[in-house]
Amino acid sequence: MIIEQDLRELLDHPASGPVLSLYLNTAPSAGTTETYKLRLKNMLKEAGLPQDANLIERHFNLEYDWNGRGVAVFSNAATNFLRVFPLGIPVRDQVYVTPKAVVKPLADLLDDYGGYGVVLVDRQGARAFYYHLGELLEQEGVMGETVKHTKLGGASAKPGMRGGTAGQTHYEEEVVDRNMKENAEFAVHFFEGRKVRRVLIGGTDDNVALFRSQLPKSWQSLVVGSFPISMTASHVDVLEKALQIGMEAEARRESRLVDQLFSGAARGSAEVGLRGVLQAVHENRVELLLVLEGFKAPGYRCQACGLMTALQTQACPACGGEIKYVDDVVTPAVHQAMLNGADIQIVHVSPALHKAGDIGAMLRY
Ligand SMILES: [Zn+2]
Repeated sequence: MIIEQDLRELLDHPASGPVLSLYLNTAPSAGTTETYKLRLKNMLKEAGLPQDANLIERHFNLEYDWNGRGVAVFSNAATNFLRVFPLGIPVRDQVYVTPKAVVKPLADLLDDYGGYGVVLVDRQGARAFYYHLGELLEQEGVMGETVKHTKLGGASAKPGMRGGTAGQTHYEEEVVDRNMKENAEFAVHFFEGRKVRRVLIGGTDDNVALFRSQLPKSWQSLVVGSFPISMTASHVDVLEKALQIGMEAEARRESRLVDQLFSGAARGSAEVGLRGVLQAVHENRVELLLVLEGFKAPGYRCQACGLMTALQTQACPACGGEIKYVDDVVTPAVHQAMLNGADIQIVHVSPALHKAGDIGAMLRY
């Protein structure tokens, strides 16, 4: 289980020479073990650190079980440092070679998919689950008093009284109230012992509302959603609901960043499109780089100073050095920006960013 402390450890590692950070998507929809291995091999080749590549490939060939939907790897061969974090959620393929581990994608996953408390409720009992990064860590259940349908008989029955379910008696209502109170106490107790950051409630609308009203205010504020589900649902079905909420959080964060990018561009504090971004990278002005997943573009690179440009020129505009064509300037530009301390956000889907040239940068100044 990954927690913030692991990110700290990665960042604090006294590395010697470059650190390789690699994220590999191993979701079943992203291929088979053979294709994961091939993508891993290609990314390691791209990184150009043969010692680290050996260290990592040996681990994956001998020790890795390929369960999970993603994996994050950090290595620094010079200090014999290797950390492998299997993940319960898919990640985008990414590889970086930088002085310090690139943990931002992992930190984002923690933000979007970390510490989910889910509780399923009905009139009698509750089941509580604790998920972290797409994995079920713990679950518990509680069962209250059976809600009996008592027959009051004849004229004394008053269906629909007190806004309750038609046919529900006063006695039934009391039992349900008592059970719901216990459900809430049970859930709070379960959540409190764990690092729950957000709460999801599963059940019928009536039961969700009743349950929610019994939660203390501090816990009500952590409720991020509810959904209808059977009390006997498997924890895998419950996880799917939690992942759905995580994916929505992820998409919202990305679209917020894209919005900020465009409003920044309007104010002159951001660049949109490859040409402007490459210029900003060269000038070391990039604070955050937003790149649409899978975006690559050919361009030109100075053999002397490393400047990258989308435009064909005779000589380097910065140093007069020789300019050569390269198949892809995006990957080296991302690396350069990160070496200069920029953050990176791979954007999953954004028609707006795609239309604007698939890449953008928020600037430091
Ligand atoms: Zn140059």
